[in-house]
Amino acid sequence: MFWPVIPKSPASWKVPPNLLDYEPTVATFSWDAVRGAFQGLPENRGFNIAHEAVDRHADGPLSDRVAIRWLGAEGATLSIRYGELKTRTNRFANVLKGLGIGKADTVAVLLGRIPELYIAALGTLKNTSVFCPLFSAFGPEPVYQRLSRGDAKILLTTERAYRQKVAPLMARLPRLQSVLLVDAREHASDRLLSLPRLMAEAADAFVIPPTDPEDIAVLHFTSGTTGMPKGALHVHGAALTHYLTGQYVMDFHPDDVFWCTADPGWVTGTSYGIIAPLLHGITNVVDEADFDAVRWCRILQAERVTVWYTAPTAIRRFMRMGIEPARQYDLSRLRLVHSVGEPLNPEAVVWGLQALGMPIHDNWWQTETGGIMIANFPAMDIRPGSMGQPLPGIEAAIVERADGGVRVIEKPNVQGDLALRPGWPSMFRGYLHDDARYQKCFVDGWYLTGDLARRDADGYFWFVGRADDIIKTSGHMVGPFEVESTLMAHPAVAEAGVIGKPDPLIGEMVKAFVSLKPDFAPSDALRLELIGFARQRLGSAVAPKEIAFTPDLPKNKAGKIMRRLLKARELGLPEEDLSTLEDSG
Ligand code: AMP
Repeated sequence: MFWPVIPKSPASWKVPPNLLDYEPTVATFSWDAVRGAFQGLPENRGFNIAHEAVDRHADGPLSDRVAIRWLGAEGATLSIRYGELKTRTNRFANVLKGLGIGKADTVAVLLGRIPELYIAALGTLKNTSVFCPLFSAFGPEPVYQRLSRGDAKILLTTERAYRQKVAPLMARLPRLQSVLLVDAREHASDRLLSLPRLMAEAADAFVIPPTDPEDIAVLHFTSGTTGMPKGALHVHGAALTHYLTGQYVMDFHPDDVFWCTADPGWVTGTSYGIIAPLLHGITNVVDEADFDAVRWCRILQAERVTVWYTAPTAIRRFMRMGIEPARQYDLSRLRLVHSVGEPLNPEAVVWGLQALGMPIHDNWWQTETGGIMIANFPAMDIRPGSMGQPLPGIEAAIVERADGGVRVIEKPNVQGDLALRPGWPSMFRGYLHDDARYQKCFVDGWYLTGDLARRDADGYFWFVGRADDIIKTSGHMVGPFEVESTLMAHPAVAEAGVIGKPDPLIGEMVKAFVSLKPDFAPSDALRLELIGFARQRLGSAVAPKEIAFTPDLPKNKAGKIMRRLLKARELGLPEEDLSTLEDSG
């Protein structure tokens, strides 16, 4: 189906966008000029994200501005002003310091979207320690993998999550010095401490130690296809990208109220759910509750949200429920709606026109890029289904693999690997403990994103698919290997192959194909047992929703399970090149 271009003109703007002329801005762009937006630490002590996001506002005219507007799942609300945010994050930094935690030590957080999470994130950055968020719906196995691979020294969590997920892991985590419980009144032991008590005893003042822009600030785990999760390392200097995308993509203006619905367990929830809005000194709405269409409409209205950043799965839920927020709610303050994380169907972009009174702006990036790289900018015509054009300062290309390297495909509309020219400020600086894997991402002066895409003659990029077997379910990345390994820990399972099965609502659903050991026979009871087994260990966000039994799994000559073939068979697609199948020759 042909989707007409959605034109943009000054008549359609509630506020003139910050980026008006794309081409001239690209032509004259320099990252050095972006640096001018920041203050730097006093006395030339360097550059720290938390200073730029909190302290410089707290010490200036924005001190009384609401920085975080928190909406509790049960109806409580809390507004934390920049001045207060400075004190609270200082206290947390002092807590860490008091525990002997310093530069480059990892502080992990397994929490829902509660104020402590945000205070811990910024306080950790102030202390020049490394903030490592874990998605609160993870089960014990993903939590263990990330805490041990991330060398976490501190973990913040709740009493309940500690009991259910962490306590059984403690003996296997010798490097984990202390667990700080956000809801415990008293310390239980040297290793199990009460955060409220520590915060009450901590001093209000904290001097941010010297911070190099290249110091590691955030550790985000992302899924691989062939191994356990990879820890992508991000530096303080990444804030330049967060600031610039806040200015050009999110189009922040001083009075904005911004709401990013992503959870900080994933990169969107830290880069845009914490850092970018605070760098701009605006109000950042945080909702503790999970998706609820009516609740979300009420929040847009009651909090007078001006810029909204959400995800395709949520938009598709609205569409399916037939909810058109603009009809029943006062969205007169809403100016821009953005989406990220999975392909945004053209229908959804156009749905926004009627249901929200404006189109939805798709943008593209990934954990490794640290910030938005390709976007539909507010002043730019939208081609529904396209991810938009590269951010000024970002060189993106479609490349093909040739002669052991890569070659740029200049011809428009040809599918290839989406590649970026390395060197932007928020580019990941490594995979923790895995330099070989990091180096493999860079070929002939390009960073290969792992996505397939094409570029049209006017420079708009169009997503085609992943080049690997990574699964995107409800916008969350799931590595098939992690799921397969867990299933194979069940006594009945001989082998498992896991794929993403396309799903109209959640993008892809995790589906496992399982072959059983000789003494076991397929049955519905066993299927349910395996689903329960996986859920208990992996958590609902990662565990398979469907399991199919199969006598054997297709493998290549090296004995590797061919997930692509499983997927082709599941979808009834041609099985393409079978020459590497185990029994084909
Ligand atoms: P993550 O690292 O979890 O943020 O996932 C990044 C991946 O999500 C990308 O490499 C893409 O495969 C996918 N993705 C992100 N944004 C988009 C988008 N706008 N359209 C299509 N796929 C996207």
